Amino acid sequence: MSFDSIGISPALISALAAQNITVPTPIQEQAIPAILAKKDVLGIAQTGSGKTASYVLPILMDLEGKNTGGGREINALVLVPTRELALQVDEVFTSLGTSLRYHVKSKAVYGGVSINPQMMSMHNINVLVATPGRLLELYRSKAVKFNNINTLVIDEADKMLNLGFKEELDRILSLLPKIKQNLLFSATLSPDVQNIERLHLQNPIVITIAPVAQNMELISQIAYLVTEERKGPLLRYLIKTEEMKQVLIFTSSIYQADLVADKLRNNGINARAIHGKKSQGSRNESMITFKNGSLTALVATDLLARGIDIEFLPFVINYDLPRGPKDFIHRIGRTGRAENAGKAITFITIEDDHHFGVIQKKMKKQVEILESDGFKLHGY
Ligand code: AMP
Repeated sequence: MSFDSIGISPALISALAAQNITVPTPIQEQAIPAILAKKDVLGIAQTGSGKTASYVLPILMDLEGKNTGGGREINALVLVPTRELALQVDEVFTSLGTSLRYHVKSKAVYGGVSINPQMMSMHNINVLVATPGRLLELYRSKAVKFNNINTLVIDEADKMLNLGFKEELDRILSLLPKIKQNLLFSATLSPDVQNIERLHLQNPIVITIAPVAQNMELISQIAYLVTEERKGPLLRYLIKTEEMKQVLIFTSSIYQADLVADKLRNNGINARAIHGKKSQGSRNESMITFKNGSLTALVATDLLARGIDIEFLPFVINYDLPRGPKDFIHRIGRTGRAENAGKAITFITIEDDHHFGVIQKKMKKQVEILESDGFKLHGY
């Protein structure tokens, strides 16, 4: 199947081709025609499935050439759980939208940064990508109006509810026009997500895409048995001997993330930590430098794992095991995405052995565990 055959315009097809995107993913094949036909859609799909473009493309087609009439009226609203996701979705709108003859203007707004610049720039925006809390603040200060919204997207609905945004979400949904197209995306179909669906979607087209776990074959996995003290040297040994240029490292705590990043830097490896205690400026800078390849190692906690979307990430290292199998799958799902093979390396201590067994069972994949005792880590 081609983008042409599912109704995407030539201008957008060229913009996609410029990003080496030529064949629609399964969610795009199914969602794009439904959205273009103005149906409500419930997409059960994870990050990595190509879900973002599956709603960005039809929204752009709908808005191209439409005059917003200026002012503070927006035409499409995309609700997302985190700032990182807001920035990434906005980037997809921008990178594709500017290729159109009549530019579609999008903007990301999120909390944790000063509201004033966001208020000032809320003019002539077509698509607003927002986290719920900040959107409500902007609404209350009359920086944005909802009357002209004809498309609503709720992305990563499960995550939004897990992060405690239920009340904000309900409030926002009560403020939006009743007649509009509703698109709901979620990795899982929890009772809360089903509730939103029942209350707000009109005869939706339901699309279910196999989770990342079923694409596990794309990821080559290996685990090293290592003591806690030797984890740091082993990490530096692997980065150097495998000549890693771009590696995402997961730790179990903010403290640990900072420590690992500091030690990498002390050993001449360009590294930054990204976690909830870093300022928004620092988080943005980390994402930008990591994405553009000028940062070798990004050390992250699980909270930020979802938002990290990089076209092709060659290496993911689990410095510490995550608590749950789902987190594990999410973490390593950052690599081996969109048909590219990647490598996931996991450090396990003797104490982790049982827990790692559970993770492998859940992921339905056996991972080879190698001893690291024999590695000469002196000097790393
Ligand atoms: P998403 O699931 O929206 O987070 O997208 C995951 C990644 O897949 C992004 O880096 C996209 O650039 C990429 N992508 C989206 N659609 C396609 C496609 N049709 N072919 C190849 N890569 C794609």
